[in-house]
Amino acid sequence: MPEAPRVGVLAYQGDVREHLAALAAVGADPVEVRTLAELEAVDALVVPGGESTVIGKLAARYGLLEPLRDRIAAGLPVLGTCAGMIVLAREVEGPPQDLLGVLDVRVRRNAFGRQVASFEAEVEVKGVDGGPVSGAFIRAPWVADAGPEVEVLAEVDGKVVAVRQGDLLATAFHPELTGEVRLHRWLVDLVAERRSS
Ligand code: GLN
Repeated sequence: MPEAPRVGVLAYQGDVREHLAALAAVGADPVEVRTLAELEAVDALVVPGGESTVIGKLAARYGLLEPLRDRIAAGLPVLGTCAGMIVLAREVEGPPQDLLGVLDVRVRRNAFGRQVASFEAEVEVKGVDGGPVSGAFIRAPWVADAGPEVEVLAEVDGKVVAVRQGDLLATAFHPELTGEVRLHRWLVDLVAERRSS
């Protein structure tokens, strides 16, 4: 048996615990990542939902923006959910904030409305078998524009809510709040594919 992939969750802010649980459920070895040493020890990373301005600012303060960009450029598989998708993006509409800029999309924050407009939806996600993914949309963004390398995986009301670019997966919704683990399994599968290529 190959060792379980060690999958980090960027743990400055947001729903870190839920992602750790989802990763454990798919057989990964989940760990919290805040420092460079912790980042260096992982085979894949989740950037959780929460508040993207806070996550970006803390990543900058911990000196992790550049190392994250480097690891991702070198092929680290990443799943970003909601705020995590924003942190991965090249650009946000509105005031500038600390971003990794590794995912070639422009995102609109809070695009589906405010907290009170939160909703759950069953989303058909290309590449995920076994029926629609149930996702929680909580002050969720959508992808307003995507570059040529970006594959659209899902739309809701004609708005792009899940994308893939190489080994980067990003969703505007939270799969981890609804007991959904198939995107976490996909992330772990990306690690296995990298190991065998
Ligand atoms: N609106 C938040 C942001 O812009 C994201 C919300 C979420 O992650 N649920 O960071």
